[in-house]
Amino acid sequence: MAEHDVDLLVVGAGSGGVRAARIAAEHGARVMIAEEYRVGGTCVIRGCVPKKLLVYAARFADEFEDALGYGWTLEQPVFDWQKLIANKDREIARLELAYTTTLERAGVKLVKSRAVLEDAQTVRLLASGERIRPRHILIASGAAPWPGPAIPGLEHVISSNEAFHLQELPKRILIQGGSYIAVEFAGIFNGLGCEVTLVYRGEDILRGFDDDLRAHLHSEMERRGVRIICGKTVKAVQLAQDTFMVKLSDDTAVEVDKVMFALGRWPNVVGLGLESAGVRFTPNRGIAVDPFSKSSVPHIHAIGDVTNRVNLTPVAIREGHAFADTVFGGKPTAVDHSNVPTAVFSEPEVGVIGLTEAQARERLARVDIYKTSFRPMKMSLAGRDTRAFFKLIVDGETNEVVGCHIVGPDAAEMIQLVGIAVKMKATKADIDTVMAVHPTMAEELVTLREKAVSYRREAAE
Ligand SMILES: Cc1cc2nc3c(=O)[nH]c(=O)nc-3n(C[C@H](O)[C@H](O)[C@H](O)COP(=O)(O)OP(=O)(O)OC[C@H]3O[C@@H](n4cnc5c(N)ncnc54)[C@H](O)[C@@H]3O)c2cc1C
Repeated sequence: MAEHDVDLLVVGAGSGGVRAARIAAEHGARVMIAEEYRVGGTCVIRGCVPKKLLVYAARFADEFEDALGYGWTLEQPVFDWQKLIANKDREIARLELAYTTTLERAGVKLVKSRAVLEDAQTVRLLASGERIRPRHILIASGAAPWPGPAIPGLEHVISSNEAFHLQELPKRILIQGGSYIAVEFAGIFNGLGCEVTLVYRGEDILRGFDDDLRAHLHSEMERRGVRIICGKTVKAVQLAQDTFMVKLSDDTAVEVDKVMFALGRWPNVVGLGLESAGVRFTPNRGIAVDPFSKSSVPHIHAIGDVTNRVNLTPVAIREGHAFADTVFGGKPTAVDHSNVPTAVFSEPEVGVIGLTEAQARERLARVDIYKTSFRPMKMSLAGRDTRAFFKLIVDGETNEVVGCHIVGPDAAEMIQLVGIAVKMKATKADIDTVMAVHPTMAEELVTLREKAVSYRREAAE
């Protein structure tokens, strides 16, 4: 009997696992991948993709309104939630099939089963009870919504997972959380015509983002009718006939038709048998790995959200690819987690890369800030009262652009391209040499001339 049944067993067919399995197979490895739910993982099934489809749906509301100012006359548009969800589900099924086909074409054996480690050498497939002895194990099991503290009525609360499958669009929804997922769903439900209350325990939404950006987004969301309550938490949810009475920490109450919590996501490590295999964890519940995604057990690697490093799809994919190249391609590759551009598909949209103003002031001796807020041209005839926001953070000593923060239409598309310049260590002077593309919103980035403020750290005596 061969010592190993396969060269690689991947636990989880999400963004990272699928990429790692395919590339490892292309390098000639015998690969098996186990998936307990649906192929594609969080991103495809109940994350980025369905979320963005709902974001698109919600944005039509503004388009219909704005069209009037541009000479169009429209019948009162009618929205059908069930139709949107059915169409979204069809698209997700198509993508799931495409992922499955990709794996099969690469020669990867896909097993629809939960996989758990019995010990460091043995993985058990629970659907069949089969035991597999792989040469290498890759844990790519992702993360799941943290349900929240055990408050009365928690059983009535949904997470983002259920939000994608609601039977009906609620008239009123309360969302607890201040993360990108909470903010995005607030925008989706608001755009689709729901009354949205966002409750967040911290000082302001989007903790960890640039303070000016947070304040700008906060006021723009309120301008669009989202009620934002900061500094409070939900302490109980009571079912009152068909509605819910949500009690907040200050003893006020909000009556709604749905309650959703988006309070963070925890790595999927429970019940995987990792402890018995000797795998160690980080203080933030992720699997501890080195820059090559190797765990404390040399033949067990971990990538993506289960490591709780940078929890984004492109990062999981990059880590999966790097793992396969390192272990099976003879090309040791560490993933660079610095300056990862990212977006929040809120309304309006957010795109960021690099340091916030606060981080730059903490780390750099001299910091120059350039920023502007303006009404995008498209809003003029639309008569919409909304403003975009651009901010550049520049290292005052090297002139390098170390951060860029955008709020406004297409911010995500813009930050993808700004990311190239930032990774290439573009200076503010480089940006200034670029001719504007007129009339666009993005031209504001290359025409920022006046420093809004400069900080100098005094040298210690
Ligand atoms: C609502 C939402 C919106 C998001 N939006 C974005 C976005 O716009 N952009 C972005 O970059 N990222 C976004 N993300 C994050 C992104 O989805 C994740 O970072 C990404 O999916 C992580 O990939 P992964 O491979 O680590 O894990 P996952 O994609 O979660 O895949 C893990 C897979 O492992 C399976 N699994 C778990 N345990 C086992 C087991 N024991 N046996 C077998 N299978 C198992 C799971 O069923 C799952 O399919 C979003 C996430 C959410 C929830």
